[in-house]
Amino acid sequence: MRKTAGKIAAQISGIVGTDVVLSRHTSFKIGGPADLFVEPVTMTELVMVLSTLRQEEIPVYLLGSGTNLLVSDAGYRGAVVRLAGEFKQFIYGNYCVDAGAAVPLARLAVDAGKRGLAGLDFAAGIPGTVGGALVMNAGAHGSAIGDLLTEAQILDEKLNLHSFTAEDLGLSYRKSNITSGSVVCRVKLRLLQGERETQEKKCDQYLHFRRKHQPRQPNAGSIFKNPPHDSAGRLIEAAGLKGRRVGGAMISELHANFIVNCGNASAADVWYLLEMAREEVARQFGVNLELEIRLLGY
Ligand SMILES: Cc1cc2nc3c(=O)[nH]c(=O)nc-3n(C[C@H](O)[C@H](O)[C@H](O)COP(=O)(O)OP(=O)(O)OC[C@H]3O[C@@H](n4cnc5c(N)ncnc54)[C@H](O)[C@@H]3O)c2cc1C
Repeated sequence: MRKTAGKIAAQISGIVGTDVVLSRHTSFKIGGPADLFVEPVTMTELVMVLSTLRQEEIPVYLLGSGTNLLVSDAGYRGAVVRLAGEFKQFIYGNYCVDAGAAVPLARLAVDAGKRGLAGLDFAAGIPGTVGGALVMNAGAHGSAIGDLLTEAQILDEKLNLHSFTAEDLGLSYRKSNITSGSVVCRVKLRLLQGERETQEKKCDQYLHFRRKHQPRQPNAGSIFKNPPHDSAGRLIEAAGLKGRRVGGAMISELHANFIVNCGNASAADVWYLLEMAREEVARQFGVNLELEIRLLGY
């Protein structure tokens, strides 16, 4: 792997590392090492990196901010690619914004609000990148990123760049048809005319709501998707699991659909708890909970 790292380092100006501990790159603060960790900063670098990794037959995983991700304690035998540089830039057009996939979604939401542009306020406080948000169709307060999407530029597994609409991507509740070998590069979102004061107020309200209802300890957001007409948090709480602890992980006392890292949790601790929640909810209420978080290294 060091040889490949050297080869890639000679091709790009972004960061290249080996045996990079992924707990440093996930909001859970959990996860073992990735064999290779690469940060391309331009489209040209991204294509060079991916084609080298393909030639060497090294598996690739696209990481956003790792805010909806459980990485195994063993880590990942392959290359983690995280976009940087030009992928962190965004530019406004006529009631729209064209954002690189590595732009932090919450930052974009607040920035648009400050410019008096409406539509993205729901995303104030949703951690993660624009690219990760599109893959997950992230949303809150009845809206999701897919509602605003006019165009997404996505690199396919053969390294061809395509332009897609929301319809093409099959976006629904926390779901898209973007396959794991594809890379979201840029996203164009439709915005509306609003008023700066109103938008800022809305963003503040949403942030306040999160501070009140979501735990502060490291976590990965909602563990399970809400089943139709119910909430995963309500079911896990009703199953008597709020506050249940295994090792360093705990089902949050504030919101039962969050598992928190109390300081030294392993991925195995989290896995044990989420299986327990899944089994108890199925046993007691006959509801099969579907994972919302993504898994890496399993
Ligand atoms: C405290 C907290 C609160 C949260 N609240 C919400 C909420 O209200 N609503 C909500 O929807 N989510 C919420 N989440 C979950 C998370 O923030 C979102 O799912 C977010 O959009 C994930 O973005 P990310 O960049 O961190 O993606 P990651 O977690 O890094 O990755 C998620 C998936 O996207 C893929 N991916 C990432 N970037 C790319 C790319 N450029 N190209 C191709 N694939 C890519 C990854 O491979 C992975 O499959 C919350 C999380 C936390 C920790």
